[in-house]
Amino acid sequence: MAKKYTFACRDIGMSCGFNTDAASMDALLPKIAEHAKSAHGMSRIDDATMAKVRAAIKEA
Ligand SMILES: [Zn+2]
Repeated sequence: MAKKYTFACRDIGMSCGFNTDAASMDALLPKIAEHAKSAHGMSRIDDATMAKVRAAIKEA
């Protein structure tokens, strides 16, 4: 069974129903960045938010 990485916005305290998954961290982070930009108006994710994002990503 391949590994899967999942992320949900609510896990970093956002009141947002977005969640996503990918086969690797490298594939997942761009999806999160794209969502942060389009849904939350973050043109870039700052270091503090990125630390929260990384902490909230679950390996399954
Ligand atoms: Zn969101």
